[in-house]
Amino acid sequence: MKRIFLLLIAAAATACTQATPEQQIVNDAAAALGGRDRVLAVKTLVIEGEGSNGNLGQDMTMEAAEQKFALSGYKRVIDVANNRQRVEQTRTPNFAYFQGPQPQKQVLGVDGDVAYNVAPTGTATRASNAVARDRRADIFHHPITIVRAALDPGAKLANPTAIGSERAVQVTIANGQVFTLAIDNGTKLPTRVASMTDNPNLGDVAIETTFADYQEVSGLKLPARLTTRTDKYTTAEIKATKQTVDADAGDLAAPAAAASAPAVTGPPPANVTVQEVAPGIWFLAGQSHNSVVAEFADHLMLIEAPQNDVRTLAVIAKARELRPGKPLTHVIDSHHHFDHSGGIRAAVSEGLAVTTHKANVPFYQEAIGRAHTLAPDALAKNPKPLKIEPVEDTMVIKDATRTVQVFHIEGSPHGDTLLMTYFPKERILVEADVWSPGAAVQPYAANLLDNIKKRNLKVDKILPIHGAIAPFSELVKTQQPVKTN
Ligand SMILES: [Zn+2]
Ligand SMILES: [Zn+2]
Repeated sequence: MKRIFLLLIAAAATACTQATPEQQIVNDAAAALGGRDRVLAVKTLVIEGEGSNGNLGQDMTMEAAEQKFALSGYKRVIDVANNRQRVEQTRTPNFAYFQGPQPQKQVLGVDGDVAYNVAPTGTATRASNAVARDRRADIFHHPITIVRAALDPGAKLANPTAIGSERAVQVTIANGQVFTLAIDNGTKLPTRVASMTDNPNLGDVAIETTFADYQEVSGLKLPARLTTRTDKYTTAEIKATKQTVDADAGDLAAPAAAASAPAVTGPPPANVTVQEVAPGIWFLAGQSHNSVVAEFADHLMLIEAPQNDVRTLAVIAKARELRPGKPLTHVIDSHHHFDHSGGIRAAVSEGLAVTTHKANVPFYQEAIGRAHTLAPDALAKNPKPLKIEPVEDTMVIKDATRTVQVFHIEGSPHGDTLLMTYFPKERILVEADVWSPGAAVQPYAANLLDNIKKRNLKVDKILPIHGAIAPFSELVKTQQPVKTN
């Protein structure tokens, strides 16, 4: 009798300690962070410090990583129990930013399904559902929140794997969000958390936050260094100088103006206006990014496939209406910046060849081949090969009825991959971002003027990708010194 009882105790003890390999990873992480009970008791986290943000999709080339926003006054507050987070930071560009060099304060929050931004004026606006999805995931890009969620009985753990000096486990948390958590084999502390998301330009991407410089705070181990990458691009590096557990987090609820605003489920419907600027040259406007269509003897050419599928497919459809008998065969791409190249995949899906600066070729070849399974776009649904026509310095596109010259814009502080398009007979220039009529700051206009002079172009009219058509004299005027007395 006594013997059986002892055997039963032994069996029960074995059952308790025999965690599955996936559970063991989570248990090890919880123990290393301060113990399961301590982790589960956490209500709020406040991380204060400094750091930097990268300039994803907007740097000098796609490979460049020099442009950064220095972050000061960084404060990330996580209300663990209520699934809310707010980040406050002041960012200062270390490059010639289109909004100017002054520091900008940002407040970026998420409260359940609602993501919101608060402007320095105090005005709150609702951000898109895609932003909300990424910010909801970001809450769990921290060792405490992800391990806490992984300990929840509603979480599902799967795919335990050994990767070098790490072990990783897939965690589907109770609300259905999926993460990969990796821990160090030696310290058992979490080394990184990753989750998948859709990026309109890059397709299916992993957002991964790595953790380092753990320090002791209120009976927990917290990382003082957090580095976040989208795909291979570093988007945030945070160095915590003060961390507080269970401090009063304040009210992280979405401001009423954002909470009551309608959900933004995607880009706005396209509105494409048409203006014939010269015979066979049309300016397609109506929203934030313009395009231009030019007629040749037997085909049409588009300048700029901007933003996203919605805008670019509408622009292409409108272009085809202009001369139904002539095929639209190619698109000239002003530069690689994500808001200007966001329609390149759509253009390829419509069979257009892409004329772009030589430095963009590797990126576009990669971008066309990338998987878009999380949010299938036009090219994912209708795959086509990329036909690419690189421009190093100059390209002339000419037939019996039309001559177009494409030039690299040299030395622009806005980017190394910029092309401007010139119609010599009509004395029309098309450019993106380097001069936007009406913009408060014009950090790139002097260089544009230099390029126009160096190429000896005779320009009467500028068709900007942002803003309204303007006479060349207006560009010249913005470059004259302003009298201050
Ligand atoms: Zn740009
Ligand atoms: Zn732009």
